[in-house]
Amino acid sequence: ITPANQAVVNFSKAADGLLPAMVQHPLSGEVLMQGYMNSEALAHTLSHQRVTFFSRSKQRLWTKGESSEHFLQVVSVHTDCDQDSLLIRALPLGPTCHLGSRSCFSDEQSTPMLQTLMDTISSRRNADPSSSYTASLFAAGIKRAAQKVGEEGVEVALAATAGDNHELLNESADLLYHLLVVLAARDLSLNDVLAVLQQRHQPASTSS
Ligand code: AMP
Ligand code: ZN
Ligand code: ZN
Ligand code: ZN
Repeated sequence: ITPANQAVVNFSKAADGLLPAMVQHPLSGEVLMQGYMNSEALAHTLSHQRVTFFSRSKQRLWTKGESSEHFLQVVSVHTDCDQDSLLIRALPLGPTCHLGSRSCFSDEQSTPMLQTLMDTISSRRNADPSSSYTASLFAAGIKRAAQKVGEEGVEVALAATAGDNHELLNESADLLYHLLVVLAARDLSLNDVLAVLQQRHQPASTSS
């Protein structure tokens, strides 16, 4: 859905003009929250690129993040087969749930495996270095982890040219893990890298 074709959405399907709108993380696929939109909320969402619902409790337009600053930055808006339901892909600028978790459905869906790994890596940042390899990497400073990325990168290259698939997969896992540690040491995550890739792939996606 774009500002130009939003009229295809069939708001008259609901007696109160409110259609369900699901918000999904564009990179991890995680379902973040669900709300309701009327045509005004959809128009606002499309023109400001920030998810805006019609709040049934507040009985007014509600831009998610209006007080918390945890906005949902719109990447794309889709409708379903019969145009009475909305799917919004949006990047969260903070925890989406007002209770502090990344998703309002955090307990109901399995966290993507890479996210779980990133969470585990982050939790080792200030842990006792003798308690885990990740903690010892953090304690040794970013140069050590960066050096490991270099080594594992070379090992991936060697496995790709001279090794079997088993070796290539294992070296790739080593590389990915150490890359996540380096990113975490700089307060970044794979999602930040994916955002760069997405920008390259669809440079106009957030402005169209
Ligand atoms: P915010 O829109 O993030 O500034 O939050 C403003 C208010 O909206 C909060 O105090 C909550 O009452 C409500 N709220 C925020 N996020 C959610 C959410 N994910 N689900 C339901 N209500 C929310
Ligand atoms: Zn439908
Ligand atoms: Zn919530
Ligand atoms: Zn290796």
